[in-house]
Amino acid sequence: MIEKKQCVVCKTEVIVINCHYSCKNCGFSENCHDIPHLIDDDE
Ligand SMILES: [Zn+2]
Repeated sequence: MIEKKQCVVCKTEVIVINCHYSCKNCGFSENCHDIPHLIDDDE
């Protein structure tokens, strides 16, 4: 799954791949652990 969102720190647009992104602007990275299960392919 690939989607776009804004970095929570600097609001730069980032590409989210498999629920994870790394911001090129500020270096922040995040996983979507706070989102309830959508699809559990890995577990
Ligand atoms: Zn950022």
